[in-house]
Amino acid sequence: MRPDHGELLYEGKAKRVFASDQPDRVLVEFKNDATAFNAQKRAQLEDKGRLNCQISARLFEALEAAGIPTHYLGLASETWMVVQRVEIVPLEVVLRNIATGSLCRQAPIAEGTAIDPALLDLYYKDDAFGDPLLTEARVRLLGLADDDRLSEIEELARRINAVLTPLFAGVDLTLVDFKLELGVNAAGELLLADEISPDTCRLWDRRNTDQSARILDKDRFRKDLGGVMEAYGEVLKRVQGVCPDPRNCL
Ligand code: C5P
Repeated sequence: MRPDHGELLYEGKAKRVFASDQPDRVLVEFKNDATAFNAQKRAQLEDKGRLNCQISARLFEALEAAGIPTHYLGLASETWMVVQRVEIVPLEVVLRNIATGSLCRQAPIAEGTAIDPALLDLYYKDDAFGDPLLTEARVRLLGLADDDRLSEIEELARRINAVLTPLFAGVDLTLVDFKLELGVNAAGELLLADEISPDTCRLWDRRNTDQSARILDKDRFRKDLGGVMEAYGEVLKRVQGVCPDPRNCL
């Protein structure tokens, strides 16, 4: 079902953002498009939009219940979410609890090394530059955030990790790493925005010791492991067991 919506405001790789009938709210449609390696690899994955929308909604509900401010207001359909209108901070904030992925390609650290406290990496959200890794000095130089905003971002990211890590562990999933995007609403508040889903988190199944069978996230698509939507479906099933049901927001 397509809810009533206004003009298309923005189209990203995995979502479209539309105006709503209220100036401080927008509608987000989750798409079935899958991309990896800065969109060099693309596919249509039937049902991905619904799965990511449903998983994200439940995780936002759980984060809100734990006192984390998010842009989420509720669901408008199975693939549409209503969120606060925010100005997105052009940073991708990655928290790493276990070393894998780009960290192991770029630094001499063994796959699977536990990282405690989690490593926080900031990337410049700009496809034209290939989302490069930033230093705090570069963040300041580019005027992307001042020191206070940077501390606020780091604190929020670590609080989110402190909620999500035990939540996933409770359903036998290891939160290996994840990417956050943050936004600032009309009142100037910093909120968790975008989505939290197997597209943006690495999740390993603790019920399976096989190195590739345990992967329940977008790495199945990146590495051509197959069973991508089955993995996302399994994540939704487990998250449904421990998160509040999403609010209907129409
Ligand atoms: O690629 P890398 O190992 O740096 O990814 C770290 C985490 O951030 C992974 O969970 C990945 O899915 C997520 N990520 C993302 N969007 C990007 C880059 C990374 O969701 N543009």
